[in-house]
Amino acid sequence: MNQNDFAKILKKAGVVGAGGAGFPAYVKASSKAEFVIVNAAECEPLLRKDQKILEHYPEVVFDGLEMMMMSTSAKRGIIGIKKKHAKIIEHLKKIAKSRKNIEIKPLGDCYPAGDEFCLVYDTIGKLVPMGGLPINVGVVVSNVETLYNAAKAYEFPVTEKFLTVAGSVKKPCTFKAPIGISYGELIEFAGGAACNDYAAIDGGPMMGKVIADFSLPLTKVSGGLIVLPKNHSLILKKSRSVNSVSRMGKSACDQCSFCTELCPRYLLGHILNPHRVMRSLLFSGSGKDIHNEFALLCSECSLCSLYSCPENLDPKSVCDMAKQSLIEKKINLENASLNFENQPKIHPLRDYRKTPVSKLISRLNLLDFNKEAPFIEFNYIPKKVKIMLNRYMGASADAIVNIGQAVKKGDIIASISDDKLGAYVHASIDGKVSKINQKYIEIEAK
Ligand code: SF4
Ligand code: SF4
Repeated sequence: MNQNDFAKILKKAGVVGAGGAGFPAYVKASSKAEFVIVNAAECEPLLRKDQKILEHYPEVVFDGLEMMMMSTSAKRGIIGIKKKHAKIIEHLKKIAKSRKNIEIKPLGDCYPAGDEFCLVYDTIGKLVPMGGLPINVGVVVSNVETLYNAAKAYEFPVTEKFLTVAGSVKKPCTFKAPIGISYGELIEFAGGAACNDYAAIDGGPMMGKVIADFSLPLTKVSGGLIVLPKNHSLILKKSRSVNSVSRMGKSACDQCSFCTELCPRYLLGHILNPHRVMRSLLFSGSGKDIHNEFALLCSECSLCSLYSCPENLDPKSVCDMAKQSLIEKKINLENASLNFENQPKIHPLRDYRKTPVSKLISRLNLLDFNKEAPFIEFNYIPKKVKIMLNRYMGASADAIVNIGQAVKKGDIIASISDDKLGAYVHASIDGKVSKINQKYIEIEAK
């Protein structure tokens, strides 16, 4: 098998980055790299799915890694995993002995160890340039589940998603569910909510978004569902309106710069200064754009908003607003006034300023919810699934089925032309197509 064949298989099987971004995996498989790094850091509090995949299916992940190494001509494969998972590491090391050029790199228990730029530096000591990508230093980074899906792509397309359902639920657990099932059914599968009035975060507590509509469907990029009481501080903070974020920032930011001093990208030597972006809130003239430009380097990790700021402000959301304003003015990394071309230089205090996950959990008021989430078989068949066509990076897939058509799990129901970036979409259950629109295809179970 050559690179082209592997990339085609990944595209046809609908393999996209399962870590959150949803970037089509065939694009990475089509590049040339020196290293493939497996992102097994899983630093979002309460999420356990990557650990569980490595615990239950390590050989499959190794297979996926070897395929990606073959496709990119990478000479080395590295699994970056936190050293606290000592048992898993021991097992992975045993498997690595029978594989070629694969090593395990234990990482500290910090947030965000899984940020691609941090991961690349902490595993191989290379600094990704400002505004660049890991491939600029010869690295392809792949999530654990993406490689699992890549290895399976020969046999079956992506129709299921691993996720952890945690927080205020009766039985926190990790499982593999059909894509398109509703979040409400996933919560019920985890024993139901353990409080009356609740909301949930789609993804991890740091980078996930609050959802109040539990009829929304599971997608290929959801890594977890964190159920919390509606009046939990995390839900309240993440639900603040843009106006209130802006008003509070204007009136209460004292420019202490803690947000900058602990920012993971700043500590890698990038010129990202979230306190300067906060200052932009007070500008109305041309100075505003210059302060906003620092936000172009923000990874949206939320550490500044949910951990660093002593005033409980939200620099991450202000960075989001700044990026939006720059897009409207067509300002980007290439034409910005700030010079992003200098090579980053690591901050001398980086090692001492990393954020321990234990402290983060306490700061997020999640100590009571930080529990095991065992891996269990998903033995529930939904009555219907809604499979999204446009939730991944690239173009929306085009439906190729009709209402009333019978489909089997694994059938292609939406495709993407060869000249477009995107992923094929497949039926996740056996059934009949009951609805088609621009956003999704609904299938009712047989
Ligand atoms: S940490 Fe908070 S108060 Fe300090 S500069 Fe940043 S946003 Fe302002
Ligand atoms: S969200 Fe905040 S801490 Fe994270 S990269 Fe952006 S500015 Fe830095």
